[in-house]
Amino acid sequence: MSGRIGVVGGGQLALMLAEAARPLGVELHVQTPQAGDPATRLATSTVLAPLDDPEGTRSLAARTDAISFENEWLDLDLLASLEADGVAFVPRLEALRPLVSKRQQRELLIRLNLPSPRWIPLDEVLISPEPQEAILAAAPRSAQVQPSASLSASVTPTAAPPPPRLPEGFDFPLMAKAATGGYDGRGTQPITNSEELTALLQRVDSADWLLEEFVAFDQELAIVACRDRSGTVACFPVVETHQHQRICDWVLAPAAISQAVQARARNVAASLLTALDYVGVLSIEFFFGPAGLQINELAPRTHNSGHYTIEAARTSQFAQQVRIVCGQPLGPTDLKLPAALMVNLLGYESSSRAYKSERKALSALPGASLHWYGKLGSTPGRKLGHITLALKETDPARRATEAARRLKEVRALWPLPPEKA
Ligand code: ADP
Repeated sequence: MSGRIGVVGGGQLALMLAEAARPLGVELHVQTPQAGDPATRLATSTVLAPLDDPEGTRSLAARTDAISFENEWLDLDLLASLEADGVAFVPRLEALRPLVSKRQQRELLIRLNLPSPRWIPLDEVLISPEPQEAILAAAPRSAQVQPSASLSASVTPTAAPPPPRLPEGFDFPLMAKAATGGYDGRGTQPITNSEELTALLQRVDSADWLLEEFVAFDQELAIVACRDRSGTVACFPVVETHQHQRICDWVLAPAAISQAVQARARNVAASLLTALDYVGVLSIEFFFGPAGLQINELAPRTHNSGHYTIEAARTSQFAQQVRIVCGQPLGPTDLKLPAALMVNLLGYESSSRAYKSERKALSALPGASLHWYGKLGSTPGRKLGHITLALKETDPARRATEAARRLKEVRALWPLPPEKA
């Protein structure tokens, strides 16, 4: 295989794409703001530019045949003129359009009749059928509309604003989410009462947030799906994910779920990719519980829940994305190990240490593959690397016990970040 591909982004996903591109004989160039960003170490070349700088992307296009992304919070209008000038984006900007904000994702899922938690735009809280005084008093200044002269005469803002009212059918607890820019739990906040809701309304621009029902799930699941240029779809096995303080902590592959749930997840993925005419790798995060499978989030790129594929699948998600961007057919997506446990190495302190002794000890664990991203500095919750452990058990109950035992070995060497106050 040969080719020259560009990636807008230079973090760990771009780094692992570069690692996959090398043995395939494919050049991989990145656009990233800092010379020390993880992918710059392995990229064929780097365009040093902010991710939202279209001129940077134009330079990237000049040295590549097709461009892909590491992050979905894109300003597509800035990129549209490049596409019009013949720059090949994979996926196409049109396929990304419904995916670049959580709100647009939710609207897409409703259009496609795919299951997801019930939600409302946060600004609908403000237009609940309250007396006009209460609405204005409860609204943050940024969201207040200047009252008309006749209305202002009758409005007397009160010192203690009445609590904001939720629309019919919604109750606490709720989950508030920023429509764009959120990742690793940033921009996601549980709201358990009206005081917290009032505080949120005062803190954020409600036009950019949504509120959704709090889902009582039994498990969180994820699937990485891929579609090539000829429209062929393939999926990696469904995995179980576990979050710590809303950040992915570990992933167990494959998930202990029935064939029916596995098939349902694959059907949802195939419907989505085909409906969007999407070309590339895309991941879907699900809640699974009494309400069945519900889609939490779509990530139109390689994803943390698919890192285990580097060691455990016949083609990794990264090699798959490189193949697709180069116009090649998909590689096989089945596992070549009985199972695998991927554990994220999240920063647990603020430090500039290189963690050499910890890395050495982690690498020495049996069946372990350590991936260290080479980021400059640790902060609590920052993804500094991950480790994948090959598991031996095929029986789901025994596999769960084996995974719990192996997780303890990792924890003994690499603690979790402290609980936030
Ligand atoms: P991010 O985009 O920052 O990763 P997510 O929307 O994926 O944020 O949420 C992070 C985690 O928060 C989820 O994996 C889940 O554990 C929890 N979470 C998110 N939404 C809900 C919800 N509606 N109900 C219950 N838990 C939720």
